[in-house]
Amino acid sequence: MKHFTLKMGSALFFGALLSAGTAYGADYPDHPVTMTVPFSAGGPTDNVARSLAEAMRPTLGETVIVENKTGAGGTIGTSHVARAKPDGYSVLLMHIGFSTAPSLYKNPGYDPKTSFEPIGLVVDVPMTIIARADFPANNIKELVEYVKANKDKVALANAGIGAASQLCGTMFTKAIGVDLLTVPYKGTGPAMNDLLGKQVDIMCDQTTNTTQHIKAGTVKAYAVTSKQRVATLPDLPTMQESGYKDFEVGIWHGMWAPKGTPKPVVEKLVKSLQAGMANADFQKRMGALGATVLTSDANPEALTKKVEQQVPQWAGLFKEAGLQPQ
Ligand code: ASP
Repeated sequence: MKHFTLKMGSALFFGALLSAGTAYGADYPDHPVTMTVPFSAGGPTDNVARSLAEAMRPTLGETVIVENKTGAGGTIGTSHVARAKPDGYSVLLMHIGFSTAPSLYKNPGYDPKTSFEPIGLVVDVPMTIIARADFPANNIKELVEYVKANKDKVALANAGIGAASQLCGTMFTKAIGVDLLTVPYKGTGPAMNDLLGKQVDIMCDQTTNTTQHIKAGTVKAYAVTSKQRVATLPDLPTMQESGYKDFEVGIWHGMWAPKGTPKPVVEKLVKSLQAGMANADFQKRMGALGATVLTSDANPEALTKKVEQQVPQWAGLFKEAGLQPQ
C-alpha cells in the first residue's frame, strides 16, 4: 500500500513537472511570433523591425511576422500589445514615444512602468531636418529665415502626437519661435511619400527613413539632431553647430512583451534579440542608415533604466514648455 502511494505520488509529481514545463514555455515558440510596429509599413520603425525580425529568426527558431498597427502617434499599437495575451507570441517594437506619450495623452492606453515586460534596447537613431526637393531654402539658416517669413504657408509633416517626428518638429518650431500648420500621418513612411510628391514642405525624421532620399537628392536636408555629425551623412551640420545650443534628440528603440509573459519565454526573447543584434547583416543595414546598434543594452535591465529616466525627463520638459496632455 505504501509502495503504491509512493508510485502514485511520483507519477503525479512528474506529471506536474511536465505540465509546468509546457506552461512555462519549454516548447516556446512553436508558431510564428508577431512583432507589432505602431507606425506605417515602409517607415523608419518598420525598417528597423523588419531587419530585426529576420535577424532574430535563427535563434528563436520561428518566423517573426511584422504587423503594423497604426494611429494616435504610436499609442494604438503600443496599447494593443499591452492588452495582448502574455504568451510570448506578441512583442512590441517602439521608440522614444513609449516614454513621451504618457505625458502627451491623458489616457495613452498603457502604463510604461507596469504594462510590459521589457526585453531590451535595440538601436539609437538620429533625426534629420528635411524639405521637399524644390523648397527654396538651401541651408539651415535660409530654412529658418524662410519658415519665419512664411509661417502661414509652410506645412510641417509628422506622424502624430507622440511620434518622434512630432517631438522633433515641435522642438524645431519652439527653437525658432514659430507655430506651423502640422499635417499628421500614421507614420513618416506615408509622410515621406507626400514630401516626395511635394504636398507638404518640411519634416524632421529619422535617418532610418531619410538617408536614401537625402543621398539620392530627392529631398533637401539641412541638419542632424545628434550631438555629433552622422558618419553616413558627413556634410550635414548638427543643430548645435548651427547655433541651436540645446537641440539634441536621439530616437532610442526598445522591445517589450506584455506584462505577465513567463520568465523563460522572456529569457528566450532576450537571447534571440541579443543574437539578432549581433548579426553582421543587421549591423551593416543599421549602420548604413545611420543607426547605432545598442549591443550592450539589449537586456531588460537597461531598458527598464532607460524608461525610468526618460518618462520623468519628458514629463518635466513638456510641463516647462506648457504642453497639456490631450
Ligand atoms: N517612427 C515613426 C514611423 O515609423 C515615425 C515617427 O515616430 O515620427 O513612421
